[in-house]
Amino acid sequence: MYVDVILPLALPGLLTYEVPSGDESAVQEGCRIIVPLRGKRLHTAVVRRIHNNKPDHATEPYLSVLDTQPLLSPATLKFWDWIASHYCCGPGEVALAALPSGMRLASETKLELSPDAEERDEEELGDKEFQVVEALRLRGGLSFKEVGSLLGVVNPAPLLHRLVEAGWVLSMEELKASPRRKLVSMVRLSEQACADERWLNEALDALDSRAPSQSRAMMTLLAEDAAPVGVPLESLTKMEGVTSTLFKRLMEKGLVFQFKQDPWQLQSSQEVEPLATLSEAQQKAVGSMREAFEATPLVLLEGVTGSGKTEVYTHLIHDVLESGRDALFLVPEIALTTQLIVRLRRFFGDRLEVYHSRFSPRERTATYRRVSSKESRGRLMVGARSAIFLPFSNLGLIVVDEEHDASYKQQDPAPRYQARDAAAMLGRMHSAAVVLGSATPSLEARFAVQSGRAAHIELAERFGGTSLPEVGLVDLRKAHKQRAMEGHFSRTLLDALKSTLEAGKQAILFQNRRGFAPVYQCRTCGWVPDCERCDVSLTYHKYLKDLHCHYCGYRQGEPSTCPRCGSEEVEAKGLGTERIEEEVVQLLPGVTVQRMDLDTTRSRTGHERIIRAFEQGEIQVLVGTQMVTKGLDFERVGLVGILQADHMLHFPDFRALERTFQLLTQVAGRAGRRGERGQVLIQTFDPEHWVFQHVVTHDAQAMAEAELKERASFGYPPIVRLVRLIMRHRDPHLTREAASALAGRLRSRFGGRVIGPEEPGIARVNDLYQRHILLKVERTVDTVKFKEAMMEDIGTLRQVPRFKPVRVIVDIDPY
Ligand code: ADP
Ligand code: ZN
Ligand code: ZN
Repeated sequence: MYVDVILPLALPGLLTYEVPSGDESAVQEGCRIIVPLRGKRLHTAVVRRIHNNKPDHATEPYLSVLDTQPLLSPATLKFWDWIASHYCCGPGEVALAALPSGMRLASETKLELSPDAEERDEEELGDKEFQVVEALRLRGGLSFKEVGSLLGVVNPAPLLHRLVEAGWVLSMEELKASPRRKLVSMVRLSEQACADERWLNEALDALDSRAPSQSRAMMTLLAEDAAPVGVPLESLTKMEGVTSTLFKRLMEKGLVFQFKQDPWQLQSSQEVEPLATLSEAQQKAVGSMREAFEATPLVLLEGVTGSGKTEVYTHLIHDVLESGRDALFLVPEIALTTQLIVRLRRFFGDRLEVYHSRFSPRERTATYRRVSSKESRGRLMVGARSAIFLPFSNLGLIVVDEEHDASYKQQDPAPRYQARDAAAMLGRMHSAAVVLGSATPSLEARFAVQSGRAAHIELAERFGGTSLPEVGLVDLRKAHKQRAMEGHFSRTLLDALKSTLEAGKQAILFQNRRGFAPVYQCRTCGWVPDCERCDVSLTYHKYLKDLHCHYCGYRQGEPSTCPRCGSEEVEAKGLGTERIEEEVVQLLPGVTVQRMDLDTTRSRTGHERIIRAFEQGEIQVLVGTQMVTKGLDFERVGLVGILQADHMLHFPDFRALERTFQLLTQVAGRAGRRGERGQVLIQTFDPEHWVFQHVVTHDAQAMAEAELKERASFGYPPIVRLVRLIMRHRDPHLTREAASALAGRLRSRFGGRVIGPEEPGIARVNDLYQRHILLKVERTVDTVKFKEAMMEDIGTLRQVPRFKPVRVIVDIDPY
C-alpha cells in the first residue's frame, strides 16, 4: 500500500511513501504522518490519498502515524485541493497556510519551553516527556534533531507533537510569530466569599471603618454583574483611595483574589443574553434570507451603515448552532474587531471562539483540534481570512462581514487567495449558507447577484430610524481663493468641528496617510529623499524626527540641510495624520486629540486602548487612517471630517473610484449612529466629481452601475478575470529580459489577452526589480485549461538556465 502525502513546503505536487507492513489499518486519509525526506530529514506530512499503485520510482516507508483519527475532514482536503488549483500554488503551500506550525514539526524546527510551562504540573508528564522538558529548561532551546539524540530515538516527532499540543513546548516560529499576549489583571471575590454568606458578612463587618475605600472596593466586586466574572484591577484602582496595597490586605483576609485574563475573553457576565428583538425591517431581511438559502446558498446582504447587520447575522448564526452545525464569522482584521467580538460573546458565550495568529500557539492548536473533533458541534468561530482553513467537518453558515474589504485578499506568500471568494467555495463544499455583508458591496458581489449566482437582500434604513448622515462637500479651490483656510482646515470644517465639540459631541477626522507629511522636499533645488531600497520617496515622521519607507521599513534621520545643494530650506509637504493631529492641537487648544494609525496601534492593546478611551469620552477628536472606517460603533460622534479626498481618486489602480466611494461611505457611516443626525464634511478640489456626488446621495446602487459600465468598456474585473504575473530579481536587465520572453510566449497562445510586461508604479521594492504581465481572460474561457497552459509556459521559461533565478509569482484575481 502507498500513501500520497502533502508536505508543508513550497513543492509542486504530492510525494509517495510506502505504508509499513502492519500499518494498513492505522493510516487514514487526513491523518498526519512522519516521513523521511532526502535521507535524513524528518517531516510532518498529511495523507491525501491511500492506494495500491506502485510508482515507477523508488519509495521509502513512512515512519509513524501521528493521528488516530483524521485531523482533516474529506471536505477540508477537497477545499485545500481547490485552493491549490484555483490559485496556482502547490498543495504544500496551502498546508503551510492552513496548519498551525505546532502541528507540522520537522527536523529543522527549533523548540523552546513554553513561557507558561513554569506554572504547570510536571506530574502529567511521562518519563521521556519530562526528560525533554528538563533539557529545554537547562539548555534554553533544542532542535528537533537534538531531541532525537537526547532520547536516543530516530523519530521524536510523536512525543514532541504531544508536548506541543499540551502546551509545554513551542516551535520558535510560533514564538516569533505571536508576540506575548498582554494579559489584564483582574480581581474577583474569593470562592469562600461567594459560597459562605455568613462568613462574608462577618468579614465585611470586620473591615476597618477608618478605611472606607476597602468597603467601597468590596461593594463593586459584590455587584451582581461583577461577582461571577471579576473586575479589571485598573478600573478599581481608579476609584478614590483604592490602591494595590489595599488589595493585598483584602487578599490576606481571604476575601478576594487576583488573576490574569486575556482581554478578548472578558465577559460582562457569564449568563448568555437572549438575542435582540429584530426591527420589522431586520425581521423581513432574516425571513428573505432563510427563504433565499433554499434556492441559492450565496446571499449578498446590503445594509446601510448602522442598519444592524450584526443583529441579523446573530439570528442566522443562532439557527445554525442550534441545529448542531458550526458557523464561521469572517472579519477583515481581527485586531479591529474587539467591539464586535464583545457583542457576539454576549449572545453566544463560550460557544464563540476566536482564531487568530496573535493567539498563543497552544490555543491555536487547541482550537484547530476542537474544530476537527467530532464531539464538538455548534461552535461559532470568529477569525480573519486564515480562519477559512479551520478543519470544519460540519459547517452550516459562513458570514463574510464587510465583504468589500481589501484585507480579505492575501498578498504574500502563496496561496494568494481572496477569502471572500474562497468562503463561497468552502460553503458550497459543506452545503452551508454564505452571507456576504456590507454597506458598500464590492462589484464582484454585485456581479454575482446580476449573473444569478447570489441573492440580494437589502436593509435600507438605520436601526432606530436615525437618518443617514448629511454629507456636505467643501470646495477647497474656493476656500483657498477666499483665504478661508487655517492650515489644512477650511473655515467650514473648522466651524463645524468647534460647534460639534461645544455641543459635547465627538468628531472623527480622516486622512488616509500616516506620518506627518508624505513628501519632504528642498525648496531651493527640489531634492526629495528616496528610499535606498525602493523606488519611493520617504515619509516624514515629525514625532520620531525621521524619514520612513512605508514599503520596506527603511529609516533615516531628518536632514537639517539639503544634501544636494546645502540649502536650509527643506520642508515637509502634503498631509499625514500626524500633521492633522498637530494642527488640531494648535487650532483648538485644550481639546483632547488622539491619533489612530499603524504608528499608534502597533501593539494589540494600543488599538483597544484608543477605542475604549474614545468610547468613554476621554477623547474628543479621533484622527485616523482607514482604521477608523472599519465597523466601529460609537454613540456620540456628531461630525466626520475628511481632510483630502482627492488623492484616493487618483490612485493608480482600476478600483480607485470604487475604493474611494467605499472608504468615504464607511467613514461617513461612523457619524450620528444613534439619536441625532450626524454630519459629514468632505474637503476636495473637485466637488463636481460624480463619485463624490454619489457619496452625498448615499447611492451605492448608482455608483455600482456607473462603475460596472466603465469596467465593461475597459475590460476589467468583475467583467473579465485578471491574472497578474510578477517577475522579481535583483538585476533589472535580467528581470526585463525574462519578462519579455514570458510575455512573448504567452502572447503566441493568448494574443491580445496579454498586457505588458510593464513596470509597476513602484519598480523596485527592497532592492528587487519587478515587472508585471497582466492577463485578461473572458469569463467564458475554461479556466482550468487556461491555467494549465499558462503554467506550462512559466515552466518552459524556468528551464532556460539564465532565467531560473528570476522569481515568477502567479497572482490570480489580484485585487
Ligand atoms: P451595521 O453593522 O449594519 O453598521 P450594527 O450592527 O453595528 O450596524 O448596528 C448599529 C447599532 O444599532 C448597534 O449599536 C446595534 O446594537 C443597534 N441595533 C441594531 N439592531 C438592533 C436591534 N434589533 N435591537 C437593538 N439594537 C440594535
Ligand atoms: Zn536642495
Ligand atoms: Zn523601502
